[in-house]
Amino acid sequence: MISIIGAGPAGNYAAYLLAKDGQQVQVFEENSIIGEPIQCTGIVTSSIARMVPIRSDFIVNRISKARIYAPDNNFIEVKLGNENIILNRRRFDQYIAELAREAGAEFYTNHRFLDFKGNEMHIKDTKGNIVKKLKTNVLVGADGPNSQVARATGLFSNRQFWVGSQATIKYKNDNAIEFFPHVGTIGWICPENEEIVRIGICAKSNTADCFNKFLKEKAPNAKILDRQGGLIPIYNPKVKAHKDNVYLIGDAAGHVKATTLGGIIQGMLAAEACHDSIIYGKDYERAWRKKLAADLRLALLMRKAMDKFSHDDYNYLVKLFTRRRTREILESYDRDYPSQFMLKLLIREPRLLYFAKMLL
Ligand SMILES: Cc1cc2nc3c(=O)[nH]c(=O)nc-3n(C[C@H](O)[C@H](O)[C@H](O)COP(=O)(O)OP(=O)(O)OC[C@H]3O[C@@H](n4cnc5c(N)ncnc54)[C@H](O)[C@@H]3O)c2cc1C
Repeated sequence: MISIIGAGPAGNYAAYLLAKDGQQVQVFEENSIIGEPIQCTGIVTSSIARMVPIRSDFIVNRISKARIYAPDNNFIEVKLGNENIILNRRRFDQYIAELAREAGAEFYTNHRFLDFKGNEMHIKDTKGNIVKKLKTNVLVGADGPNSQVARATGLFSNRQFWVGSQATIKYKNDNAIEFFPHVGTIGWICPENEEIVRIGICAKSNTADCFNKFLKEKAPNAKILDRQGGLIPIYNPKVKAHKDNVYLIGDAAGHVKATTLGGIIQGMLAAEACHDSIIYGKDYERAWRKKLAADLRLALLMRKAMDKFSHDDYNYLVKLFTRRRTREILESYDRDYPSQFMLKLLIREPRLLYFAKMLL
């Protein structure tokens, strides 16, 4: 029996892959409805289609233009070669859960994982208010940034988080995603359609104040339709994701890009590595690192440098990208895999090396 804790994209996708291969899989989710509450903007590149068939009922919007703003309000506009998809996260999570169910996985909502001792899980049925003790051969922690599986099995160790806050508002737009990477924060405006956007900010500290300031600046009188928020783990290469028969995937293992703070595709890649390790006996630490570590590490290096940027550094960076030959690289490569284009970028624009000093 394989028990997966958490019915987010990472847990559901792992359940689907494992059940499809004939494994007995059960998924425990603490909330009553899969995909709720939503704590995400839902921006993914269209490379998601390599993992699950794309269906229109979970796509809110498709976007092929992005603008990145410097603090001085100069910006670069990038045509996205790899079209971006904006997900309805509730429907997306439910869709992958449905694929897993069809493949034979069993789902238990209102079931919160508490502890793991020997091969026994302590799971609280939050409706019946009883704690069940259930045996499992394999435990997969896909239970998000605050992973109780990681805590219960001694894998939590030293983690850092940013906090994200977001609102859905009425806001006329031209169907471009706008990013505002500034000192200690990254803001975004992401269209659902030409009248409605998801506007949010992630910050190292004081997120609520940063968000209120950002909203007031960009859309002072906007009507707020909905509010969301949540923790975002910063990737730490030292955090272990495997111990005996316990595997961590997705946010539970900190599999999130430290630049854009996106983790949907990364969590699903980790689910593939977890599947390969369980089915083919591969070493999981090696398997997930092979798929993810180069890009996560590069993103972390970039984040460390960006954390030392001043406003002027951001202004200079955006200015360098206004040149067509540098912008072209951003347009033609997938930002989920920065290791594939970083060297090309440095060769085309050696002045980017100016930022390398921030790594020292
Ligand atoms: C404001 C915000 C905006 C974001 N925008 C983007 C974006 O645009 N693109 C992108 O790629 N990423 C984005 N992210 C990050 C993205 O949401 C996560 O990386 C992604 O959801 C991770 O998926 P996961 O399956 O690992 O974990 P989660 O989606 O967090 O799923 C974990 C599941 O486990 C359940 N759970 C938790 N504890 C327990 C327990 N003890 N017992 C049982 N169940 C439990 C939870 O209820 C949840 O359903 C954003 C995050 C935030 C906060």
